[in-house]
Amino acid sequence: MSDKCLLAKGTLIEIHAWKGLLETQDIEVELKGEALLGATGEFGLDASYAEVWVKKDKIDHARNILDSMQQQGESWCCRECGEKNESNFELCWQCGTEAPE
Ligand SMILES: [Zn+2]
Repeated sequence: MSDKCLLAKGTLIEIHAWKGLLETQDIEVELKGEALLGATGEFGLDASYAEVWVKKDKIDHARNILDSMQQQGESWCCRECGEKNESNFELCWQCGTEAPE
């Protein structure tokens, strides 16, 4: 039996952002999903979903962290390349341009 629970599903970009955030809170994270194996297929990274799993005794804490992160603000579009970025990103993940004020 696993002692881990599914916390959330998201794109590779999202789950790596979540993983980084959770790890700063001492929450151990396990990522699962086909997308992690490089089997992104014809749809590319944007259509690839993966899962974030955390230990059962941390699941409530982890959910609170994700909730508060998602309430921080709107995602933004890069003025250089048009890529969509999460609100917690200060730089465009794709080209490194700073977020608009
Ligand atoms: Zn960009």
